[in-house]
Amino acid sequence: MDLSFSPEDRAFRAEVRDWLHDYKPKEPRPHSGMAMRDFDCAWQRTQYEGGYAGINLPREYGGRGASLMQQLIWHEEYAQAGAPYVGCMFPGVNQAAPTIIAKGNDAQKRDFLPPILKGEVVWCQGFSEPGSGSDLASLRTHAEIDGDDLVVNGTKIWTSHAPVAELQKLLVRTDREAAKHKGLSWLICDLKSPGVRIDPIRTMAGDWHFAQIFYDDVRIPLANVVGEINDGWNVAMATLGFERGTAFIADQVELANTLEELIELARRTPGRDGPARMIDDEDVALRLAQLRAEVAALRSMAYMTVSRAAATGVPGPEASITRLFFSEVQRRMRRLSLDILGSDSLAIGEGGHEGWPERYLNGFRHTIAAGTSEIQRNIIGERLLGLPRK
Ligand SMILES: Cc1cc2nc3c(=O)[nH]c(=O)nc-3n(C[C@H](O)[C@H](O)[C@H](O)COP(=O)(O)OP(=O)(O)OC[C@H]3O[C@@H](n4cnc5c(N)ncnc54)[C@H](O)[C@@H]3O)c2cc1C
Repeated sequence: MDLSFSPEDRAFRAEVRDWLHDYKPKEPRPHSGMAMRDFDCAWQRTQYEGGYAGINLPREYGGRGASLMQQLIWHEEYAQAGAPYVGCMFPGVNQAAPTIIAKGNDAQKRDFLPPILKGEVVWCQGFSEPGSGSDLASLRTHAEIDGDDLVVNGTKIWTSHAPVAELQKLLVRTDREAAKHKGLSWLICDLKSPGVRIDPIRTMAGDWHFAQIFYDDVRIPLANVVGEINDGWNVAMATLGFERGTAFIADQVELANTLEELIELARRTPGRDGPARMIDDEDVALRLAQLRAEVAALRSMAYMTVSRAAATGVPGPEASITRLFFSEVQRRMRRLSLDILGSDSLAIGEGGHEGWPERYLNGFRHTIAAGTSEIQRNIIGERLLGLPRK
């Protein structure tokens, strides 16, 4: 790809910078509950009205349809402006919308895409089950065809944002005789349907981000099957490809800002056993330098991900390389913050120290969600390097 900025790109950067300066929410983002939901939906709506919602999605469905370079410019300026985290819009904007564009039919695109981009609906993702996380294809929640509906029974767990969501990407078994990857279907489930029960789960960071969901004879119209019936594995791989690839480009770019904050923390924090400030500690300085190099590498990888996704439509297994590297770099960065803070880092849940202790706890999420680091290594080994499965 050509990495030089044209006059149009430079003009776009200036336009985006001004727009973000004027329209970015001034108040802090609430971290949970309906207040968080309202904030995230309102910010999504503002982006839609400004013409920036779904920066990479086609214009015909309400997206911006920006060029590759402009997508990157948007993410860079967004991070630079300190604009809010996408929050509970993530499963809709970054996973459901691109999956429906790639695999859905015209009616599904027409009905489900505009409400996502306008911030009118919150989605969640019902893939994992108790006993079926890494081995996703072993899932047991099943659906039988009855007239024009599917009737679903079973349970899903670790469903992010479910307590504030209306719609769900739901992966179920529709053929119990077929090989485990072959008998699955990807459905759109209305969480207000009779028979759905949502039990929120509190995390160790103190919020109610997750839920376990139970389905008791829940009827879902066959029209809500995305892709073909029993071809859900194929559709789910597209969803996970987006989640591992394009969905977290903003996080990758944002990591550079986090590192600069960490360097500032090391400059301010008094040293222990010798150096005046923690930045003068040789081990800390070396780890910060290493992280700077890694963040620069991640930026190049973000360019590569956007470029590949634009060429192929769906990020392939190589998205696992970026996902793995990002989550490990982020975790090391947050671990270093605790070493800089020393025993002060034990003040978890008190909101002090710019939230570094909580950020450390939250940092584990990326090494588990969308497939653990071990699973990403397996994908890289088996599907990219051609190594034997055992
Ligand atoms: C922040 C967060 C958000 C999430 N959001 C959602 C969501 O919205 N929707 C959803 O459906 N799920 C969600 N999940 C669940 C997530 O997808 C699963 O936790 C993940 O796939 C791992 O599954 P598991 O928890 O069952 O662990 P297990 O699969 O039981 O794994 C346990 C351990 O064994 C290792 N392991 C398992 N199999 C292998 C193997 N073959 N080779 C090497 N090591 C292996 C794993 O790496 C892990 O360390 C979320 C998780 C987190 C942390």
